[in-house]
Amino acid sequence: MAVQQNKVSKSRRNNRRAHDALVAANPNECGNCGELRRPHHVCPSCGHYDDREVVAQADEIDLDEDAA
Ligand SMILES: [Zn+2]
Repeated sequence: MAVQQNKVSKSRRNNRRAHDALVAANPNECGNCGELRRPHHVCPSCGHYDDREVVAQADEIDLDEDAA
């Protein structure tokens, strides 16, 4: 195990942590349903990306299709 040679002072430790803050997400409006979604991600509410549906939504799937 690596052992540090010198104690890191509170000042040096806190200066290092000065850049550790998390930043809030920057959501965009979905072009299809208007819901907020993360940029460059499929819309979680309607499954659209770049004006076309790429993920079928669970309530739109007809379960009887497989029965026949
Ligand atoms: Zn959407």
